[in-house]
Amino acid sequence: MKVPTESSVSRSRMMDWSWYNMTRAYSLRIAGIVRESIVDGPGIRFVVFCQGCPHGCGGCHNPESHDFDGGQECSIERLVQEIDKNPLLAGVTFSGGEPLCQPEGLLELAKEIKKRDLSITLFSGYTYEEITIKAEEAETVFQLLRLTDILIDGRFVQELRDLTLQFCGSSNQRVIDMNKTRETGEIVLWKQS
Ligand code: SF4
Repeated sequence: MKVPTESSVSRSRMMDWSWYNMTRAYSLRIAGIVRESIVDGPGIRFVVFCQGCPHGCGGCHNPESHDFDGGQECSIERLVQEIDKNPLLAGVTFSGGEPLCQPEGLLELAKEIKKRDLSITLFSGYTYEEITIKAEEAETVFQLLRLTDILIDGRFVQELRDLTLQFCGSSNQRVIDMNKTRETGEIVLWKQS
């Protein structure tokens, strides 16, 4: 997955827990948020960094997001309230950590995002092919994938690190246009329109 950089993730903002609400039924364990990013997908995006990652990519710049017991529980309702504060958003990005380790909470959030006509970008350390297998086994993953507009897939590979790539951290990762992929039945890479 793309590795967040200092320009995309302000550490101080990620560690600001003051706005969290831990009392709601649906929640996500998150490492933090960024309210406005232009490097985590097209347009201005609200980014949710999910907590917990099983991949262990060498050179990961976000190791504090690996511990499944780390971060903080945050209600979906509270995240939606934060998203609703910014009328300039083009969409919401799920990053991590590994978002697909929390498909139930993310699906609830994705449904709210789609009600607001915002796009969804999903970063996952799993490849598209691995995710489609997961989607056959788990309805929540299937539904979440169906609501995803752009998928950046695959683990970060330090030897393939390339700072010139848009949204990706290493050249094995792909920026997949999920709407066109669903239409055609084969992987279509996203292109800036
Ligand atoms: S998928 Fe890899 S790069 Fe992304 S958070 Fe997990 S270990 Fe780090």
